Amino acid sequence: MAKVHVFNAGPCILPQAALDASIEAIKDFKGTGVSLLSISHRTKEWEATMNECRALWKELLNIPDDYEVIFLGGGASLEFLYVAMNFLEKKAAYLDTGVWAHKALKEAQGLGEAYAIACSKDKNYTYIPKGYEIPSDLDYFHITTNNTIYGTEIKEDMDCPVPLIADMSSDILSRPVDVSKYTLIYGGAQKNAGPAGVIFAIIKKDALGKVSRYIPTMLDYRTHIDKESMFNTPPVFSIFVMNETLKWVKAQGGVEAVHKINLKKAETLYTEIDRNSMFVGTAEKEDRSIMNVCFVMAPGKEDLQDEFFAFAKERGMIGIKGHRSVGGFRASIYNACSQEDVDALVACMQEFENLHK
Ligand SMILES: *Cc1c(COP(=O)(O)O)cnc(C)c1O
Repeated sequence: MAKVHVFNAGPCILPQAALDASIEAIKDFKGTGVSLLSISHRTKEWEATMNECRALWKELLNIPDDYEVIFLGGGASLEFLYVAMNFLEKKAAYLDTGVWAHKALKEAQGLGEAYAIACSKDKNYTYIPKGYEIPSDLDYFHITTNNTIYGTEIKEDMDCPVPLIADMSSDILSRPVDVSKYTLIYGGAQKNAGPAGVIFAIIKKDALGKVSRYIPTMLDYRTHIDKESMFNTPPVFSIFVMNETLKWVKAQGGVEAVHKINLKKAETLYTEIDRNSMFVGTAEKEDRSIMNVCFVMAPGKEDLQDEFFAFAKERGMIGIKGHRSVGGFRASIYNACSQEDVDALVACMQEFENLHK
């Protein structure tokens, strides 16, 4: 098979080392003679993996002691509901930066009063709203730090007068985060932290238990904190692969080292988009994501779109089709996507431009 370059938005490309370790573990988990897919999650070998994974999250993101990290099934979309269940008492505000943010808001509105404080829908979510005022009487303010579909990102940890909750599905572990500024950081693993099937939540423990509603056992974050993510059968395979992915991040030099590489990759690709006469970027420059790079054919070149898809495909580019709600192209350049992959895409764009000069 020819060399491929995977730019899938999610599930994402994972480090080869994580894949290799997972293949071995499926055959024989830690020398037990039992496959990872069949081991009991109540064995000491599994508990060691679980503990290692939790410890790695804490180490890689410098998570303070009064926070806990849990791993669950269900998808980031279920965490939209977890958020409201566990934190919404009177009123919450959401920053509406796109489809995921909007879906998160909708779940909260099913349980209480929640509203969009600002919205960038007027320009199809190509920018991050600014200049809004956060009232001090909110239970929480919810943001989506990286908008996977539109390629916009809130790249700095904001100061917030009320508890700040962030969906970091698609930029977690891509940059250093000051966890202490957040009450909750959550997301699905499959964009940057591991395979599909597991979600993470980094929770400030003393912020829980403040709502008066009945919280169903499985939707109560405290259940899973108390039982160290083993209240029920955890997604064993997904957690294993996530742990191997985290080990790889650590081996790269940690989140700061990975961030530097990510900045370089993003700069390489955006520089080419801005230079190349065939393409234009869609996101507002100052809000450009370093994880999902969105672009379209330049004005007048629109009819070459299908040709570029075919051209890029022939050269091994996988997953560069934009989300169906945006169109055009999106290259997701998550942690495990290398500078070499980005260089290959840039070379392909240059070759295409030369062909049409
Ligand atoms: C993909 C994505 C989700 C939804 O994740 P699921 O695990 O498919 O439910 C939520 N938020 C963001 C920012 C995403 O990119």
